[in-house]
Amino acid sequence: MFTRRGFLETVAAAAAVSPLASQALHAQTAGEWGSPVFDLHFHPRPKPEANIAHQDGAGVTKANLLGAQTLAQFKAIDAAAPGRFTWFARGDISKPEGIASLKQAVKDGAQGLGELKFHVAADGPELKNVAAMAADLNVPVLIHFQEVDHFENEGKWSTGFAKNFEAMLKAYPKTKFIGHADAFWANVSADYHNEAAYPSGPIKPGGISDKLLSDYANFYGDCSANSGNNALSRDAEFTKGFLSRHQDKLMFGSDCSCSDGHGAGISQANNPAAARLNGQCVARSTLTVLKASTTPGVFKKIVWDNAHKMLKIPA
Ligand SMILES: [Zn+2]
Ligand SMILES: [Zn+2]
Repeated sequence: MFTRRGFLETVAAAAAVSPLASQALHAQTAGEWGSPVFDLHFHPRPKPEANIAHQDGAGVTKANLLGAQTLAQFKAIDAAAPGRFTWFARGDISKPEGIASLKQAVKDGAQGLGELKFHVAADGPELKNVAAMAADLNVPVLIHFQEVDHFENEGKWSTGFAKNFEAMLKAYPKTKFIGHADAFWANVSADYHNEAAYPSGPIKPGGISDKLLSDYANFYGDCSANSGNNALSRDAEFTKGFLSRHQDKLMFGSDCSCSDGHGAGISQANNPAAARLNGQCVARSTLTVLKASTTPGVFKKIVWDNAHKMLKIPA
């Protein structure tokens, strides 16, 4: 039975051991992956200990919580392992109260906005409004781009990436945009025309995402989810070059929903199209691909340094 007394004892015990546990973990994870690891794309689970279980299991040092709406929600998780979490705020970008809550969250310490996953156009009025606000607040914006449904009637998210997003990068040069999800990653290949959520096979150089990362100082990439994992696994030669070209722009993230950091439960929830990762932890799988595809120095930038710079937090 879960008693109040039991709860207080648990909290006290967690508070007492966490600094030491955290130091031990830091050393351990630097050993496991050869670098400490920052997970830019982690959706919080309701129970604080479930968040820590995923980090510890996957050898992740710190994680950025996407989807908290208020400081209280962030604090409830952070209290279980202080110093191991940052957060991006979420709010409905089509409503004034959603915009107000995003602003408030940044005032309260949120390091960014996102992920923004809405049924809007990539260059529509809602994302324009947020882009201008993010420039004023000086925080990055993480956007989910998807043109192919994962299940019936899902609908598309931030549509028109390939054709229309460049205009946003031009119009809002002070806004740091972080690209994420299917359309961002499928468009690393020049032959993509929204045929599949996760195209396979060799990559044709000259894709729009690759080009935008090269051409715009305010565009960055999030390696999370099956989309990032799949794209980075398609073509070993391409991946080597891509990681090298954008070594200061790419950030590791998992978007994993497995329970233990080893693939238990469901790693890509609500996404039958991502079955290739069934039984695997996305964090572990993507870290393995990244490590095999680049030098230790570039690996550390992508899994640790770049996110700290972006979020303006000490490494
Ligand atoms: Zn997403
Ligand atoms: Zn996992």
